[in-house]
Amino acid sequence: MSAQVPVKTHFREVQEELDRSGRAIFRDKDGNESLVIRFPYSIQYIHSYAEDSPFFLGLADGKLKGSRCTKKGCRFAYATPRGHCMVCGSATEWVDLPLSGKVHSWTTCHFGSEAFLKETPYNLAMVEFEGFGSLLLVRLKDAIEPELYVGMPVEARFNPDPKYLVTDVWFVPKR
Ligand SMILES: [Zn+2]
Repeated sequence: MSAQVPVKTHFREVQEELDRSGRAIFRDKDGNESLVIRFPYSIQYIHSYAEDSPFFLGLADGKLKGSRCTKKGCRFAYATPRGHCMVCGSATEWVDLPLSGKVHSWTTCHFGSEAFLKETPYNLAMVEFEGFGSLLLVRLKDAIEPELYVGMPVEARFNPDPKYLVTDVWFVPKR
């Protein structure tokens, strides 16, 4: 490709070049080259959380909200809240999740959407909680790949300046 566009082989270098000149070529490990550009983009979006609202309000209060089936004899508990039970179809009720759990699985992301570019590479983990039958997908900070393992105890951290977004919560290794 054009010699006038700097070629970078790491995504973080691409981001730095975009900060400098607004253009870069990303060359992957197989030699494939992609032109990457930066341009202004702005949108104001009005979004109602509707029945999911308690989850996001909970994050602002330092709480993780899951849900539990209301049917006697089922009572299945969801770490990712659901309005209705996937086992029996009954309505659920909101419950507080423990603020610590264990890593069920994880992955390290070397590419990220716009919201995560500054922290790329970053970890995503499926966290399991005592007494809950489903998992919660969250970012796992303050740990790099060689330190991570299945079963690792982790605990929640909350944005002290809540934005009412899923990024208001993340997990860190429990020390
Ligand atoms: Zn149920």
